Amino acid sequence: MSAIKVRPDVMETKPYVPGLTIEEIKEKYGLDTVIKLASNENPLGASPIAQKAIISHAPYIFRYPQNGNPRLNKAIAKRIGVDEKCIISGNGSDEVIDLLLRVKAQPGQDEVLTYESCFSMYRLMSRLCGISFRQVPRDAGHKQPLKALAAAVTDKTAIVFITTPDNPTGLAVPARELREIASLIPAQTILAIDEAYIDFATPAKEYDMLSMLNEFPNIVLLRTFSKAYGLAGMRIGYGIMSPELADYISRSRAPFTVSILAEEAAVAVLSDEAFYQKTLDVVQRGRKLFTDELRAIGCEVLDSQANFIMFKPTRNAAEVFDELLKRGIIVRPLKSFGLADYIRVNMGTDYENKIFLKTLKELL
Ligand SMILES: *Cc1c(COP(=O)(O)O)cnc(C)c1O
Repeated sequence: MSAIKVRPDVMETKPYVPGLTIEEIKEKYGLDTVIKLASNENPLGASPIAQKAIISHAPYIFRYPQNGNPRLNKAIAKRIGVDEKCIISGNGSDEVIDLLLRVKAQPGQDEVLTYESCFSMYRLMSRLCGISFRQVPRDAGHKQPLKALAAAVTDKTAIVFITTPDNPTGLAVPARELREIASLIPAQTILAIDEAYIDFATPAKEYDMLSMLNEFPNIVLLRTFSKAYGLAGMRIGYGIMSPELADYISRSRAPFTVSILAEEAAVAVLSDEAFYQKTLDVVQRGRKLFTDELRAIGCEVLDSQANFIMFKPTRNAAEVFDELLKRGIIVRPLKSFGLADYIRVNMGTDYENKIFLKTLKELL
């Protein structure tokens, strides 16, 4: 066998293992319908206005997009009320995470700091960039360990990642608590706050970090069109940061990573206020229902501010996952997060939620 050698840290990387597809599950268990509540996707599907924009722009896909997506950046900036120079759009917020790492952290020298059982992309991308990766334990109740993170920062710490609302716990940190931590983190360390689920947090004002960007130029907020805006398959996200940092990223990144259709869909969905409101309504209604009903049958349920909940079933989580799958319901077991006793399930449509709760109650 010819053994190709790549970078040692890459040789050690284990591949991401996706679950069975809906089609595979239908075939394996002889099911007509399968309900997927595993990837925190939008329960309402895709906005009709976004779909129309994609179709009407199909004739133009022979063109390159406008580099850096200034039109989209402007639309985002207008919507959230910041200067467009503060926005970096990317191929999913995953790309923005990657760009931050590449632009800020010195390979073989700097480190990334976060906490245990967090979103897997921070580790994966740090590895790929040759950046060491350090995690501190969570606080009691799986809370984000803010003080411990601030205390663990050294002069090698290039970026600290905090997810709020958190994946997979759903726990959110109020802005005033983040502010305290921001003031303890040195100006040369970036505090990256991953707000993939921020749209679902209520009351919104309590979790609003935007006003702190001027005060702390080392804060970067990461957001996405994959969840509340229903565009996961288009791959589009963005970062909000100081114009200075955004300029460094713009200069050094690969061009054209956000496609023409992704840009059009995102601009369109920003104007679809009805779709956005309906999404928030169905998620917030489902979240309360899941939390109340699961607690009522004795499950531990964390207080979620996201479009999913994390819970500990009253019997073995791996068994519950398998039994749900056999009945055509896909949820997310959390063993790979180091939380083998727990399951994460996102809110679906009202109908899907009803089926999930009924089936789960039968199993427990
Ligand atoms: C889903 C998710 C994202 C979004 O990723 P995209 O690349 O924009 O699809 C980012 N961070 C967290 C914690 C997530 O769960």
